[in-house]
Amino acid sequence: MKKGRLIIFSGPSGVGKSTLRKELFERGNLNLRYSISMTTRPIRVGEENHVDYHFVSEEEFLQALKEDRFLEHAQFINNYYGTLEKDVDDLLNKGYNVMLEIEVKGAKQVLEKRPDALGIFIVPPSFSELRNRIVNRKSESEDVINKRLNMAHEEMKFKDTYDYVVINDKLENAVEEVSKIILKECPSC
Ligand code: 5GP
Repeated sequence: MKKGRLIIFSGPSGVGKSTLRKELFERGNLNLRYSISMTTRPIRVGEENHVDYHFVSEEEFLQALKEDRFLEHAQFINNYYGTLEKDVDDLLNKGYNVMLEIEVKGAKQVLEKRPDALGIFIVPPSFSELRNRIVNRKSESEDVINKRLNMAHEEMKFKDTYDYVVINDKLENAVEEVSKIILKECPSC
């Protein structure tokens, strides 16, 4: 059995990574599994604990950090996010391609430890469209929206450190493009 490949999926907050990811999983032909991150951010309406994230307190997160359980971790705005290394390795060893949906600082840590990981960066068609998407989500205050947009400008500077950059203008086109990349780059598909 071939070992799966680690796929890093990044892009600014609001670019539509989760929607894209869910569409990719629905296709069912990419041998994909999702690595559920741990976070201290409050749960949003429509999210489910242990499905979208493992939602934990700051104490629990710091305990996991102390126990060295993270493949990578980062602070984003005011919250911690991290990828549990054992979960990722268990899935890779079962032959699955494992998708990490993480921000750029975490992606850098993963690439240092796992240089064979495939990096895909999703960009919005424009910043005004990105703002509309975050505002329409209606889950963040004006202050957090502005922080996320500032962060988006910072994150975009890292896009060329990824293997592929995909524009999420029309969802179905972006899904098709990412799907083709995974089929081409992941031997266990
Ligand atoms: P959100 O709060 O919108 O769910 O996520 C904020 C940012 O953190 C997004 O860019 C998301 O991809 C990223 N993120 C989610 N989980 C992780 C993780 O485990 N590690 C890192 N480094 N970033 C994460």
